[in-house]
Amino acid sequence: MAEKTKEKYITEPEREWLEKIFSDGSECVEEFPEHWVYGGDGGISYCLECCEKEADKLSKKHPDEEFSVDGGCGTSGDSQAFCESCGKLLNNDFTQYACETEVDHFLEHGFDFACGDDCLSMSKVISSAGWEPYPHDANLGFYNSLHRLCRKILEETN
Ligand SMILES: [Zn+2]
Repeated sequence: MAEKTKEKYITEPEREWLEKIFSDGSECVEEFPEHWVYGGDGGISYCLECCEKEADKLSKKHPDEEFSVDGGCGTSGDSQAFCESCGKLLNNDFTQYACETEVDHFLEHGFDFACGDDCLSMSKVISSAGWEPYPHDANLGFYNSLHRLCRKILEETN
């Protein structure tokens, strides 16, 4: 890493402070495990209750096919997941694409500490992507954006 780039990077104590802010800020936001119907449309996410209902509904509609509740942990997605039926927030990890989208969004539209959803998004970006690229990671641009955003957030709060 070039010395010039390093200076801009968020330091260890700053990282800890930001992580605490993001996790405290998102405490008011509740997420539920992400599920989908096995045998159904795997692209549609549900909370557990709605998924059970949906699997029942499909089983009645197509008695000769098999449907069951799938998912529940270790899921990841290109954006925050919501239950298709009731709109509950679902607990997924962010893909690299989702991390990039969130960071770009906050760089463009600003980040609000008082907004639980904003804090949750940043918590998930950090827990999914980390602060540092893996060695030889081609995606340095994302980490530069992440650190630029966090520098901005730190400046706005001081
Ligand atoms: Zn639901």
